Amino acid sequence: MPPDMLYISTRGEAKPKSFTEILLEGLASDGGLYVPEIYPQFSSAELLAMRGMDYRKLAVTILSKFMDDIPGDVLRKMINETYTKEVFGSDDITPLKKLEPDFFILGLAEGPTLAFKDIALQFIGRLFEYALEKAGHELNILGATSGDTGSAAEVAMRGRSAIRVFMLSPYGRMSDFQRKQMYTIHDANIFNISIKGTFDDCQDIVKKLNEDAEFKKRFNIGAVNSINWARIAVQTVYYFYGYFRATNSNTEQVSFSIPTGNFGNILAGFIARKMGLPIRRLILATNENNVLEEFFRTGIYRPRKGAEVAVTSSPSMDISKASNFERYIFELSGRKPNRVKQLWADLVSKDFFDISGSEDFSNIKDTGIVADSSSHKDRIATIKHVYEKYSVLIDPHTADGAKVALSYREAGVPLLCMETALPAKFAETIREAIGNDPPYPEDRTKPSDIEEKFEVMESHAEKVKEFIEAHA
Ligand SMILES: *Cc1c(COP(=O)(O)O)cnc(C)c1O
Repeated sequence: MPPDMLYISTRGEAKPKSFTEILLEGLASDGGLYVPEIYPQFSSAELLAMRGMDYRKLAVTILSKFMDDIPGDVLRKMINETYTKEVFGSDDITPLKKLEPDFFILGLAEGPTLAFKDIALQFIGRLFEYALEKAGHELNILGATSGDTGSAAEVAMRGRSAIRVFMLSPYGRMSDFQRKQMYTIHDANIFNISIKGTFDDCQDIVKKLNEDAEFKKRFNIGAVNSINWARIAVQTVYYFYGYFRATNSNTEQVSFSIPTGNFGNILAGFIARKMGLPIRRLILATNENNVLEEFFRTGIYRPRKGAEVAVTSSPSMDISKASNFERYIFELSGRKPNRVKQLWADLVSKDFFDISGSEDFSNIKDTGIVADSSSHKDRIATIKHVYEKYSVLIDPHTADGAKVALSYREAGVPLLCMETALPAKFAETIREAIGNDPPYPEDRTKPSDIEEKFEVMESHAEKVKEFIEAHA
């Protein structure tokens, strides 16, 4: 039976494909990003039934709509094997922690690398293995990370025989903890490449090599960064889960606050809202790298140059452009590929685009997104405030989200702050805020002090290409 769900490109020229086809492809052949032709909808009867489900059941219910070319029993088995108490610390998977009535933290960082990216990547490791076995070939994952994606991808993919990971990271720009988590993985299928440049230089190399169609095909290059649709789909699940745990009935609305970098996490919330989940606001928080806050304030999207990217104490949000943003603009324009193509051509010719004064800009209010930014000082003050008031320690990224969230708080609307990492990952900033080291979660193994294994490389796509050709 052919799948009902087809995926189309935001640039409108790539052929519509099924989920498992786009899973291994990453970027579409026309340079766009894949999105569902139609978003699945949940009726109020379905939402009522979903309220009582545990995380795994909920994941099956939601993901079977997006991944309908995977047999139901296979999908269920993969979900049940991924979302376990052993891997995520509890059967809640994403536990809801109440600070006070209508003010919550949604714990997304209980996985093996203590950051929310585990939720998608742990599952994607299994998805890839399934799809590769079916297709009968191997995959070389090429990715860029500012810290958390890399470790989550490597932990999820290590030891998987049909998969190799080539992960680019910015030399000297990750926390000690993040670096150790990645560089102490010595499995033969994992290659850490440390680029003398910023995260965006890393991302540019990945983009460039992906535009080399011959190379991409010859080496079966795939992606795990958040442009991969599977990640977005998987991340919609915890919006539903958090909503059902924070409310008593489906007539209530909630707001979420999301510390944002590449626009992946918040996009999943936007899509959950489109699928019928009663979300009032999606509160977007940036750090000093405020390219997205600026867009929501002015209508001007101006990606920063590599040298303009500040190194901050919430490093996983240190981005200059938000790779998933194209999916949002596609929706904002009423799904017009020509509009997307025109705006992205502006980015090439002028380094920015401006939709202020257009209908697209006024459509923002219907999408529920509001935005503001947070600074190092805000982060430190918020960590301290939450710690002193509630005896709960939050990490610097979560603090950016909480800071902005509190300024948008509305009486009677439950507010859920996404906890995207655990404080143990960012000891230096925690010490500055509260004067003590963050505790390490007892049931987790610390990254070891064994030798770090990585290649240092100049920021040249050709060098990376040669390395892959020699090791794939
Ligand atoms: C990746 C990451 C973010 C940003 O998420 P996006 O999906 O890129 O917007 C925020 N906080 C932490 C800790 C992260 O690892």
